[in-house]
Amino acid sequence: MQQIKRLIRKFLSQPISLIRLSENSTPWISLFVTARCDLNCTECIMGNLKSAAQGYQMSPDEIKRFIKTSESSRYAFNIILTGGEPLHWKHLDEGVQLLRGSSCCKSLHLFTNALNIKGLNDQTGNSFDRIRISRYPRNEKNIEELIRRFPAKVEIVDRTAFWKTPLSRMPNVLPAVCCNSEVFFFNNKIYACPHSASIALRHRTTVTLYTPLKKGFLKRLPAIRKKQEYDICAFCISNMKVRNQAELVKNP
Ligand code: SF4
Ligand code: SF4
Repeated sequence: MQQIKRLIRKFLSQPISLIRLSENSTPWISLFVTARCDLNCTECIMGNLKSAAQGYQMSPDEIKRFIKTSESSRYAFNIILTGGEPLHWKHLDEGVQLLRGSSCCKSLHLFTNALNIKGLNDQTGNSFDRIRISRYPRNEKNIEELIRRFPAKVEIVDRTAFWKTPLSRMPNVLPAVCCNSEVFFFNNKIYACPHSASIALRHRTTVTLYTPLKKGFLKRLPAIRKKQEYDICAFCISNMKVRNQAELVKNP
């Protein structure tokens, strides 16, 4: 228990953006590998996408297309597996192997709620550079087990409280100050940021959010991110100007 508390304190003492940027200047990308999750957190920022994409599991063919396109573009990424809950990804072992075998994968990170840890074997677990666990009231035992199995890889972030996502556009929050630098891959499309697909579903905006997966896909994304600010970033708790006004609520 002392070890868990020490890890939580260490992680929470650093802003996420600094933790990421401190590793190197390689771009970051999140892969939405499954819409399935054991939990239904009330303020889940991905909740709308999870509902709309129910049953979605990223296929090995989709991973192969991502790898081929990235390699032909000479891109290398720090890659995050996310969702939903990536330990419910049907192709976890194969997908991790494919990514690890590619020059496009500079580092690999698992963001998990640690509830379905029977889905994580030692070989796959050891293939990650980092296993970031969201701490909830009901996963303490599994956290202890993952620390025991992968002591050098586990980091813990507290998720017993969430910032409440605003229902309407917040005033004076643009230009956005975003704490998420990564782009996002889902359903053969590359989104300019990890939250836009889900927020757009909630507010039914038609602003452009993504570029198709094709050679040189990173080039268009900064312009897309800029243009989505009014329709998307004004509702996003990763915009620090929104977060500073948002209510922190307990995650039941
Ligand atoms: S565990 Fe994560 S993905 Fe699942 S509902 Fe909670 S915040 Fe959303
Ligand atoms: S919606 Fe805007 S503030 Fe939120 S993660 Fe995307 S770019 Fe950042």
